[in-house]
Amino acid sequence: MNFATKVLHGTSCFDPVTGASSVPIYQASTFHQADLECPGRYDYARSGNPTRQALEEAIAVLEGGVRGFAFASGMAAISSVFMLFSSGDHVIVAEDVYGGTFRFLTKVLSRMGIGVTFVDATRVEQVTAAITPATKGIYLETPSNPTLKVTDLAAVCRMAKQHELLVIVDNTFLTPYYQRPLELGADVVIHSATKFIGGHSDVVAGLAVTKDAALGDQLYMIQNGMGAILGAQDSWLVMRGLKTLKARLDVGTRSADHIAHWLAEHPAVSRVYYTGLHSHEGHHVQERQASGHGAVLSFDVGSRERAKAIFDQVKLPIVAVSLGAVETILSYPVAMSHASMPVEEREKRGITDGLIRLSAGLEDTEDLVQDLAQALDSLPPFEHKINEKKTFSRA
Ligand SMILES: *Cc1c(COP(=O)(O)O)cnc(C)c1O
Repeated sequence: MNFATKVLHGTSCFDPVTGASSVPIYQASTFHQADLECPGRYDYARSGNPTRQALEEAIAVLEGGVRGFAFASGMAAISSVFMLFSSGDHVIVAEDVYGGTFRFLTKVLSRMGIGVTFVDATRVEQVTAAITPATKGIYLETPSNPTLKVTDLAAVCRMAKQHELLVIVDNTFLTPYYQRPLELGADVVIHSATKFIGGHSDVVAGLAVTKDAALGDQLYMIQNGMGAILGAQDSWLVMRGLKTLKARLDVGTRSADHIAHWLAEHPAVSRVYYTGLHSHEGHHVQERQASGHGAVLSFDVGSRERAKAIFDQVKLPIVAVSLGAVETILSYPVAMSHASMPVEEREKRGITDGLIRLSAGLEDTEDLVQDLAQALDSLPPFEHKINEKKTFSRA
């Protein structure tokens, strides 16, 4: 089955009990046991709920794994997956992981005796060099946020296998429609379903999928033990969003691609980050390991004042934290997702005061371009238009 069909028919597309065209919201915390000797499939909703289970089965099928889990948020999924490790273990983590993941690792997990080393995961040799006798896992995010750096998943997974390390991939930006890390050798895939999978900026949720059953049993024990489960209503909302994932991403990606190429030519923009641009460092690896470039891009307008002028003048996008929704979202990484990062660290990663992230929604592409154009045209152009190299004179 191809993805478009699988997303609708891969698992129960109707309620097996009544035939209802959407799995009902089983708003129940506990389940009657007719025969104590022979308990039913469900007993208590933290341990299992039919609505949540339908979502868990769907994401497992789409990612090509054996077992799925739905959590109260992306961070609940991430923190629960890290509970697979024990005190004394060491994990190698991509240096530009999501800010909330960085905070969890450095402020919470560090108190549990689990060591973390951050590396530039786009360079496999740096990942290998960070391995210690205590290393048990590698945690990746590709493309990364907000400069869309691409990690070669197959190469890292191959190396990890040799050292018997668990590979965990946050697949939020591309979703299983464009990228399936388990097929490239990863062991666990994680999602903030708040983003593309939910897709409507109306629910906070997280998902995880394991490649094998034994790891699935371990993660089930953690999900049930820690209790950060997704509620039945939110599970239903995420499933509703999931049904249109392909259609939404097709449209958003087409717009993002068009806008990225247009911005790359615009005299008021110093640099564009989008893996669909041939000039992007990670373009070729991305083409090899993913079937699309996604709906997120970033662009640099050179300074905080210039960025502010854009945010003040655009009319269509909502200005907000988050991404992956039906409406186009513009965010300002230095003041939002990366506000807590020291300036030197930020600048090293290309997260400058002029950087703006755009997550393309379902609006008409030309309307979006026109709106960006009226905002950008008010800025003085750069003397030397530099699309690919990092230096530019600040206006
Ligand atoms: C938003 C996000 C998260 C965290 O998810 P929440 O649902 O907000 O808890 C994790 N990883 C990535 C890449 C994200 O964009």
